[in-house]
Amino acid sequence: MSQSTATYATVILPLALPKPFTYEVPAELRERVQFGVRVEVQFGRTTAAGQGGKLYSALVIEVHQRAPEAYQPKPVLDVLDDEPLIHSAQVQLWQWMARYYCCTLGEVMHAALPSHLKLSGETRLSLHPLHSGDLTGLSDREYLVAEALTIQESITIEDVRDILERKTVYPVIKSLLEKKIVLLQEDLQEKFKPKTVICVELAEPYASDPTKLNQAFELTSRSSKQTTALMAFIQLSKQQSFVLRQEVCELADVENPSVKAIADKGIFRLYEREVSRLGSYEEDTIDADALSPQQEKALGEIRGHFEQKNTVLLHGVTGSGKTKIYMELMSEVIARGGQALYLLPEIALTTQLTARLQRYLGDQLAVYHSKLNNNERVELWNAVLAGKPVVMGARSALLLPFSRLELIIVDEEHDPSFKQNDPAPRYNGRDSAIYLAQLHGAKVLLGTATPSVESYHNALSGKYGLVEMTERFGGVQMPEIVLADARQEMKQRQMQSHFTTQLLNELKAAIERGEQAILFQNRRGYAPTYRCFSCGWHSECIHCDVSLTYHKFSHLLKCHYCGYQSKLPPECPACGNRQLTLYGFGTEKIEDELKIYLPDARIARLDLDTARTRNAHAAIINDFEERRFDILVGTQMVTKGLDFENVGIVGVLSADQLLQFPDFRSAERGFQLMVQVAGRAGRKNKRGKVIIQAMNTAHPVLQEVIANDYKGFFQREIAERRAFRYPPFTRLIRITLKHKAPEVLNAGAEIFTKALHQSLGDWVTGPAAPYISRVRGLYLLDYLIKMERDPRKMEFAKSSIDTATHILQSTEGFSGVRVVVDVDPG
Ligand code: ADP
Ligand code: ZN
Ligand code: ZN
Repeated sequence: MSQSTATYATVILPLALPKPFTYEVPAELRERVQFGVRVEVQFGRTTAAGQGGKLYSALVIEVHQRAPEAYQPKPVLDVLDDEPLIHSAQVQLWQWMARYYCCTLGEVMHAALPSHLKLSGETRLSLHPLHSGDLTGLSDREYLVAEALTIQESITIEDVRDILERKTVYPVIKSLLEKKIVLLQEDLQEKFKPKTVICVELAEPYASDPTKLNQAFELTSRSSKQTTALMAFIQLSKQQSFVLRQEVCELADVENPSVKAIADKGIFRLYEREVSRLGSYEEDTIDADALSPQQEKALGEIRGHFEQKNTVLLHGVTGSGKTKIYMELMSEVIARGGQALYLLPEIALTTQLTARLQRYLGDQLAVYHSKLNNNERVELWNAVLAGKPVVMGARSALLLPFSRLELIIVDEEHDPSFKQNDPAPRYNGRDSAIYLAQLHGAKVLLGTATPSVESYHNALSGKYGLVEMTERFGGVQMPEIVLADARQEMKQRQMQSHFTTQLLNELKAAIERGEQAILFQNRRGYAPTYRCFSCGWHSECIHCDVSLTYHKFSHLLKCHYCGYQSKLPPECPACGNRQLTLYGFGTEKIEDELKIYLPDARIARLDLDTARTRNAHAAIINDFEERRFDILVGTQMVTKGLDFENVGIVGVLSADQLLQFPDFRSAERGFQLMVQVAGRAGRKNKRGKVIIQAMNTAHPVLQEVIANDYKGFFQREIAERRAFRYPPFTRLIRITLKHKAPEVLNAGAEIFTKALHQSLGDWVTGPAAPYISRVRGLYLLDYLIKMERDPRKMEFAKSSIDTATHILQSTEGFSGVRVVVDVDPG
């Protein structure tokens, strides 16, 4: 029977389907269909004649002989790749993520694959702006598509089907993308323009045959400048993976023309190299330096723990020199031919750290950040597939196709941005990294100055190894932290706008000493509320339940949740009063007012408004580093991974605000933020000073921050978590119901609550309106499921949520209620 010899391919479609789908592989494609390649398939309702249904590129995860029982499989239409795009461990990770974080495999794959690798019918193409217009050498089909694009600016893949009068078009598009004749529309958005530097290397035959260098020296012997330049180059090239022309000039004390003369003689080759826009290469000496005794000891302890444990927590105070330890461990992995993954919060990727690592690792390092364009993403994907030794990236880098992963470093492991909140998969990058490491038999090093309560708990309980570094590198002292009592100063009328006199005096003194300062205010814009004094009206977003923030530069009121913006009403829309007032303050106002109190200071601001692009962000940091500004005012952006050697003062403007989030993690987050921002003070030769302004100076967290007492903080916090049954003692799942009509939402919640209660009883709290109860036009209701840490209980809870969702959505009138499930919410 033909049935028994038929071959099937199980694929993941780029859709939120609960399960993978199986297709039949026609005999003529059987050779080419294998694990990890993309195939073109039809999905959706079709007529009896097989018409209709949309076409997708889907990823093959299994080739087998088992016919699906529930449906008649459709055929695979075409095969896009000759080589697999993924490794098998990836599919295991995806499956785990889909199960653990309650989403579909399609959603995980969507997050993992670069856009170029997951084309769909609606994808828009346009002509590559750098294409010459020369269409010779193209196949007939490629030609037709390219020609169409010379007439129309952009076309969809569905259009391509009409043009070619055939269904399977992905192979043609793939080829046009690879030949850089077309590109996807989204590529046309702003791109990161890399900065390049000129580098020097030996030309042939000298490069491959060092014995010929004698001849090179003979060729330069008549110029002493050229001879010293050549010697300088040789010395530098022994120590580093690439040599800048500038370095050669500096070491040899010659000018560019001497280097050029050597190149003209065929000895040097000059080439351009992309560098991060940050980090001054000249100053960076760390990598040649030996480890401090503390680093040596920590490294030994980490290696020791790795013999028995898969995960180690490195708790090292800010400035203790954790990066150097990561580099050492990564070098070992590279030397063995393995791969290492270095994860860190997205924002920290744009900083000096990238430059430092690039310097150290050269081409062995790939950096994966959110601003890569689609071509770069594919290139990086392929490089990792081919075994790139080190990848540095934000959380999604763990979805890349590693094959020989031996080490994962999660730097700033406490950082909330490791959790993806929206869209699915709502995964925690740190926790997923630990699972990924298990799949590869790799080790995980979690590093931070302020461990998450979960990780520290795991370390104390012996699940993770614990290694501590309590001193800063080079004997630099920890900063002195003092509180500025804003309430007291207010009573005594000493406050000057939002600044305590104490803070202003310290700032003045620091600037006079030639030092720089950082001020942290966790809110951007000018003022978060615009209010009517007489009737209490305040400006609110029309789509969200939040007040609009006034932005002075654009003179607009803006919503930070949905982007809605409006002009300032000239009078109160409710009562007509013309005296409307701004309340509160954000970074923009701080910058503005500082100029009044410190007229001579040069001030810059680092927040989402000034640093929307990677370039702008880099430029601000670079300028501050080069001391073109005295004071840097910023949001959370100033707290992460920055290392400025001249910062004498750090100010936190409203500490109370940091401790007031309506969340069980509020104290933890507040503590972490303050210790991290304090860590920016006094990094090199001098003890820094941190001034924390607060109304309630008696808050226990503030006392712990001042004493730099992580352990004290942890003891108090863990006792509360235990008493109130919060993680790490329990597990949480948050469920959010969303709908645009509050009546529908409330009625739907009744149905959902009943279904949930039936199986989960008192594990459930809610429904309750969250702190922000409407976002982007949708009303929200939250549930929290709290249970013991037992995988079976977790499974049970998830299947109960599934059932309740099904009951709700299949009740007439409620199919439109969205149910969002967030496991281990951040
Ligand atoms: P952390 O990440 O623990 O906050 P860093 O790794 O940024 O600390 O190190 C703090 C400072 O000490 C940096 O300026 C770094 O250049 C310097 N440093 C660390 N280790 C060494 C070393 N072994 N030799 C020379 N300088 C070092
Ligand atoms: Zn009013
Ligand atoms: Zn809004």
